Amino acid sequence: MTRLIFLGPPGAGKGTQAHILAQELEIPHVSTGDILRNAKAAGTELGLKAKSYMDRGELVPDALILDLVRDRLTQTDAQSGWILDGFPRNVSQATFLDELLQKLDQVSDYVLNLEVADEVLVDRMLERGRKQGRTDDTEEVIRHRLEVYRNQTAPLIDFYKQRQQLVSIDGDRSLEEVTSALKQVVHS
Ligand code: AMP
Repeated sequence: MTRLIFLGPPGAGKGTQAHILAQELEIPHVSTGDILRNAKAAGTELGLKAKSYMDRGELVPDALILDLVRDRLTQTDAQSGWILDGFPRNVSQATFLDELLQKLDQVSDYVLNLEVADEVLVDRMLERGRKQGRTDDTEEVIRHRLEVYRNQTAPLIDFYKQRQQLVSIDGDRSLEEVTSALKQVVHS
């Protein structure tokens, strides 16, 4: 039973690494960004509401996210573990998650913080934008997302450090090296 939270700036490799670990551990990879992108592509009410925030690189309001996470973590497949990628994104989401996990009688094992320097992140996201056509992977929006990360999400590093749940990993290495560093933590 493994429950992991991925933290780190946009472009740090959270999605890629969370996907690999989730497959290996046979637990769901819960990416709020993927859920929102799917909703946007499908044109659902959630997608329509989230679109303008996502395209500007702003966080979607908590009111759109919290129910969605509660619903996902109470599904049957999430009872044997999960990996959260892109949630929590601010202190109020982290507090909500604390309360939710308490209700579900669950605790997270590790908060894995992928560290990568800003200039590397910008290059990576521009490359991803070229390959995948993500509408928020343009230089202006990327710079804004990094600012949003610094202001709203980075405070969670201290939040989880204080509970001794935080493990920081150098994310500026090859995909395989980062995966192996993460596996070492998870299997320790
Ligand atoms: P990501 O794929 O995690 O980088 O998320 C892409 C975009 O989706 C973000 O820039 C936000 O607009 C939105 N988003 C994803 N997760 C969250 C969240 N937990 N809270 C608010 N907005 C989110």
